[in-house]
Amino acid sequence: MRSGFGCESCGSPGVRLPADLTDDAMIQCDRCGCTLMAWGAFKRRVEAQEAADTREPAERRAVGAAPQAAR
Ligand SMILES: [Zn+2]
Repeated sequence: MRSGFGCESCGSPGVRLPADLTDDAMIQCDRCGCTLMAWGAFKRRVEAQEAADTREPAERRAVGAAPQAAR
């Protein structure tokens, strides 16, 4: 799992973006061409993934550096 995303049918992480990037435009798998999900849903998923990627290491450092903050 590189990006946390893969086509359910073929496992490819590549997507084909719609010409019009509206939230309800459907994106397709770049390899097999199947419909994956709406652009709006995909965008939120990617944003959530990026937020998790940038947050996790900092939290791990914070826990190690600040034992009094342990819950
Ligand atoms: Zn596919």
